[in-house]
Amino acid sequence: MNVATFIAMGTVNTITLFEPDTQNILPRVFEYVKSMEQKLTVHHSDSEIMRLNANAGIAPVAVSEEVFALLLRAHAASLEEGSGFNFALGALTRLWRAYQKQGIVPFDTQIAAARALCDPHLVWLDAGSCRAFLTQPGMSLDLGAIAKGYIADGVKRLLAEAGIERATIDLGGNVVLHGQSPKQADGLWRVGIQQPYAAKGEYAAVCRLPAVSVVTSGVYERYAEAGGRQYHHLINPQTGYPFDNGMLGATVIAPDSTEAEIRSTQIFAQGAAGAADSRSDVWRVLIDKEKRMFVSRALLPFFELKDAAYQVIPV
Ligand code: ADP
Ligand code: MG
Repeated sequence: MNVATFIAMGTVNTITLFEPDTQNILPRVFEYVKSMEQKLTVHHSDSEIMRLNANAGIAPVAVSEEVFALLLRAHAASLEEGSGFNFALGALTRLWRAYQKQGIVPFDTQIAAARALCDPHLVWLDAGSCRAFLTQPGMSLDLGAIAKGYIADGVKRLLAEAGIERATIDLGGNVVLHGQSPKQADGLWRVGIQQPYAAKGEYAAVCRLPAVSVVTSGVYERYAEAGGRQYHHLINPQTGYPFDNGMLGATVIAPDSTEAEIRSTQIFAQGAAGAADSRSDVWRVLIDKEKRMFVSRALLPFFELKDAAYQVIPV
């Protein structure tokens, strides 16, 4: 086994190969992840996304093809009816991030003003010229809920093109399983569903899965407390405040990691009421504060509960 761990995108990433890296593919993978990070980061003013944000209300900006393709998918997902996912949420997430650092809850008036700058209809994309334009000053994009999935799909493509038949890709908890597990007689991978608020690697359940992607949106990932309340990093585009729907986490299992990332935010947003929504055919595991676990029926034969305190509700 050949395990490579590296820091990128502010998180720990692990690529596992099950054969010697004779083609030296791992350095190319790091290079790819790093180059995507440089294009997408909001922490350096010279990234493509920051150039777009800096030109909000001023002028369209040309971006690379791979960034444009990501913007198209993020835009389409944001425009779906009732979507809890919104890539134009930068004005709001910036406000809440400042709060997380300084412990001051933004004023309602600040939230309302920022919310007006988060309408995905106000983003203009031109496929012919690969240009994007945020049409109002103060708008900004936040690709934090989709970038890792998109990059993970890119890593899988690189590995497949190099003829690698089996691997796991873990970009900060966004998991892609490639090929069959060499460790299990059934060829399926074992993937844990993280126990909310517990130490990393403590599982509430374990799934046996084929070559799919597994992505979780969880409120326990990043949060801060103020006045006895907990404010986490998933923002409801409808209200401008962190989601308050009783959900702790939504795990989505789908063939494609970009899709899984988008759906994990959308399904988290739908909460218990939307747990049974069959609009999308992706498998899901939702955990709420009442220790209920909503699990897709199709997944149940491959699902093993590890904590008997949960009530499993098939959906
Ligand atoms: P993590 O980064 O912990 O894996 P997610 O993939 O769920 O978490 O992405 C969360 C990030 O996405 C937030 O930190 C924020 O930047 C952004 N975000 C927050 N709320 C939304 C939303 N409703 N739609 C799209 N992006 C969001
Ligand atoms: Mg995510």
